[in-house]
Amino acid sequence: MRYSALALIRGALTGQRHWTPAWRDPEPKPAYDTLIVGGGGHGLATAYYLAKEHGITNVAVLEKSHIGSGNVGRNTTIIRSNYLLPANTHFYEKSLQLWEGLEQDINFNAMVSQRGVLNLYHSDAQRDAYARRGNAMRLAGVDAELLDAAAVRAMVPGLDMENARFPVKGGLLQRRGGTVRHDAVAWGYARAADRRGVDILQNCEVTGIDVVQGRVVGVQTTRGPIRARRIGLAAAGNSSRVAAMAGLRLPIESHVLQAFVSEGIKPALDTVVTFGAGHFYISQSDKGGLVFGGDIDGYNSYAQRGNLPVVEEVMECAVALFPAFSRLRYLRQWGGIMDMSMDGSPIIGTTPIEGLFLNCGWCYGGFKATPASGWCFAHTIATGAPHPLNAAFTLDRFRTGAVLDEKGAGATPNLH
Ligand SMILES: Cc1cc2nc3c(=O)[nH]c(=O)nc-3n(C[C@H](O)[C@H](O)[C@H](O)COP(=O)(O)OP(=O)(O)OC[C@H]3O[C@@H](n4cnc5c(N)ncnc54)[C@H](O)[C@@H]3O)c2cc1C
Repeated sequence: MRYSALALIRGALTGQRHWTPAWRDPEPKPAYDTLIVGGGGHGLATAYYLAKEHGITNVAVLEKSHIGSGNVGRNTTIIRSNYLLPANTHFYEKSLQLWEGLEQDINFNAMVSQRGVLNLYHSDAQRDAYARRGNAMRLAGVDAELLDAAAVRAMVPGLDMENARFPVKGGLLQRRGGTVRHDAVAWGYARAADRRGVDILQNCEVTGIDVVQGRVVGVQTTRGPIRARRIGLAAAGNSSRVAAMAGLRLPIESHVLQAFVSEGIKPALDTVVTFGAGHFYISQSDKGGLVFGGDIDGYNSYAQRGNLPVVEEVMECAVALFPAFSRLRYLRQWGGIMDMSMDGSPIIGTTPIEGLFLNCGWCYGGFKATPASGWCFAHTIATGAPHPLNAAFTLDRFRTGAVLDEKGAGATPNLH
């Protein structure tokens, strides 16, 4: 069924009996043209663009749990393209452009909200670094504005501008950045891929990858073996474990990152704000809860839960920036497993094993990348070679030294 205002009205008049499942629940076939391991945002988007852009529909997405159970349903929903290095700026800008047309494209309300992303600066040196990043963005055709303190004060009235330790001097604003309802992205891509013939196989964990004479021929799963000559790995925080099944050791560390939601309040914050003197970011969801997060927990882990010291640090940052929020209660908190690459940039490309493709290394920032990641990964799998937009994101760069040390990505990952 197609979702539309008319369908809603018709449903209201006929007792809402018109709803059908958003995607099928098929049995695995013995063989497919292409398998995607991991039913997160990136895996589902890849399957969708394989079908839409390349006409490859004999595809299955293999998900060990249920759709949306990974980071795609656990992140703080921020999208932006305010990166410094050209390879990242162009790639994330492609993603932002795909977000802008996504809901029409997949016929699903993902609540894309371009409410702006404001990075605060707290010193002259930081202002210069932000000016440099903003100029790099504008040279790449991406919107960026450097705001002074008065403009920030007018835009975000609740901020403690004169905080004795970290006074706010201004900010770098990307107005086209914002938030997207995270699990709707998983559901929307799943439904759109299913409509084009892709099989979405939930509760289907990949337990082995079959390689014969340097080429992939299929996988072992908890629902039986499945043959395929093209396999794309999009397992995010579990990438190292899945790649190891094919004998690959990745330059990736897995770390926990936590997210927090407060009780719901009336509209108080209509943009995304990030703290320049600590690792902290905050926005308000459409339900009224404040959604915020900070740094990773700082130890290697595959557990989807975090520890109390980070809770304390994140709350300190929140209260330093917005003293009024100290009166709120925080409702829930959870953790996700981050696939940290050592240069802060992703890997999307081929591997030394023929027919095996890799998508990982998303650090803190893979949600915003979801559309472009799927689009580029689909191109790479369909043609056997990267698109110019992901040509720099090779696995090989960690061997050759052509790393992409991105400074707009968050904390420096190789310090963890
Ligand atoms: C707390 C938190 C906040 C974040 N905030 C932001 C943000 O504001 N903005 C932003 O851009 N990014 C953010 N991120 C990062 C972003 O969520 C991730 O980088 C991105 O979602 C990863 O891609 P994915 O959606 O495909 O991952 P996932 O949803 O994790 O998908 C990977 C899937 O692979 C499956 N899998 C693993 N092993 C196997 C196997 N053996 N067989 C089958 N399936 C398997 C997993 O079950 C999982 O569903 C945040 C992450 C967290 C945890």
